[in-house]
Amino acid sequence: MSPDPLHVVVVGGGFAGLGCVKRLAREDGVRVTLVDRHNYHQFQPLLYQVATSQLASTDIAFSLRKLFRDEAGVEVKLGEVTAVDPATHSVELADGDRFSGDALVLAVGSQPNFFHTPGAEEHAFPLYALDDATRLRSRVLEVFEAADRDPSLIGKGALTFVVVGGGPTGVELAGALADLIAETMTVEYHDLAVSAAQIHLVDHGHALLGGFSDSAHDYAAKVLGRKGVRLHMGVAVTEIGPGHATLGDGTVLPTRCVVWGGGLKAAPVAAAAGVPQGRGGRLDVQPDLSVAGFPGVYVAGDVANIPTPDGHVQPQLGSVALQSGSWAAENVLADAAGKPATAFHYHDKGIMAMIGRGAAIAEVGAHRHELHGAIAFSAWLGVHATLMTGVRNRIDAFIAWGWDYFTKSRGPQVLDRAEETRIDWEDDTAPEAEPAARS
Ligand SMILES: Cc1cc2nc3c(=O)[nH]c(=O)nc-3n(C[C@H](O)[C@H](O)[C@H](O)COP(=O)(O)OP(=O)(O)OC[C@H]3O[C@@H](n4cnc5c(N)ncnc54)[C@H](O)[C@@H]3O)c2cc1C
Repeated sequence: MSPDPLHVVVVGGGFAGLGCVKRLAREDGVRVTLVDRHNYHQFQPLLYQVATSQLASTDIAFSLRKLFRDEAGVEVKLGEVTAVDPATHSVELADGDRFSGDALVLAVGSQPNFFHTPGAEEHAFPLYALDDATRLRSRVLEVFEAADRDPSLIGKGALTFVVVGGGPTGVELAGALADLIAETMTVEYHDLAVSAAQIHLVDHGHALLGGFSDSAHDYAAKVLGRKGVRLHMGVAVTEIGPGHATLGDGTVLPTRCVVWGGGLKAAPVAAAAGVPQGRGGRLDVQPDLSVAGFPGVYVAGDVANIPTPDGHVQPQLGSVALQSGSWAAENVLADAAGKPATAFHYHDKGIMAMIGRGAAIAEVGAHRHELHGAIAFSAWLGVHATLMTGVRNRIDAFIAWGWDYFTKSRGPQVLDRAEETRIDWEDDTAPEAEPAARS
């Protein structure tokens, strides 16, 4: 009689969860239960393209069930994990169901961090999940439609966009938004003064694209400047209302669309895991990705504080998530075979960012060989097409990119969340300007 299969419960079907499940699925005698609150894997690096109508949401979402349909040992379960018991390798779902395994891998990712900025959670548009991207897309289209019917709304910030955060998310979104406005909206809105549109990018740091080199910072600023994006560096957004954003230097920008790319913290369920949390609420792990004191529990991807050999923590990147997920699987298998688990080694292939049409930055390899412009743009296309899951999605994305590049028109300009993003144009609680001091 064959022994019972090793049962591994994996929570999260992002890059880390997929890396883990794909590795486990290659082994005989292993059964995997993959739990996610969505029935799809989402490709976060391209969310900004959904938000700016370059790609359809179906181009960057892949059915988890379909991904593993040929893997008889992998069961996909749709559900929201609300509690974790690391001692018994169990998780509990919102509806009370429980899954327990011989090992547990947590790969639940992050959520936006608003850093207690007043009004941000209520009024800003985060860009973390597919849902966020379609909501933002609808808001962008809705403000254009409203201004087209009533140009006086431009004075209420209808065509003013504020992007918070000068990291890759903010820079990529600002560049793509600028292209959408300059190349598509100007052609499609015949009666509207589209030239009145403004994009403001605000960051409390002094350089764009932190984590990249100094010349990349300058290149990003130059490209965005050329596209008309106004940079507010060294300034924080201190408050956001339904019709405005206030900056630390006292500037009040009337706007109906503040995009939040200001930072991330651990997914909410991390707090329910009962294991030590470090910076950003992330779960502290040992170099082999295991949790101290809980044998058989591993944490991978964004939700983990993964120590590096030089005393730092790994960055929150898709490649770190994918590789750490796969490494956690190796260590689960090592445990089962009675072998020692090994410390995670990250194979750094570099970082890249796209700043709108034809302009990209790539820093290749651990030594960060730097590429700008068209070569980096080509590298970006290649890397993202390779990373995307599913042949059909890759083909669809390439058709959309080609169409966009040559026709300068966007395919999926779909305002499908009107109810949720409907704007009350009278609702503007912008702080009154301070009365001038009497002399
Ligand atoms: C806008 C944006 C752009 C980015 N661009 C890049 C880039 O260009 N290059 C790069 O390398 N990285 C990029 N990143 C970072 C990269 O996407 C993340 O590092 C990576 O997605 C992390 O993978 P993960 O599997 O840890 O988490 P996620 O991909 O977030 O996956 C977590 C999964 O867990 C599920 N989940 C969470 N909580 C629960 C729960 N309670 N119950 C059930 N399921 C749950 C979620 O539904 C999700 O499927 C970007 C991130 C963002 C937000």
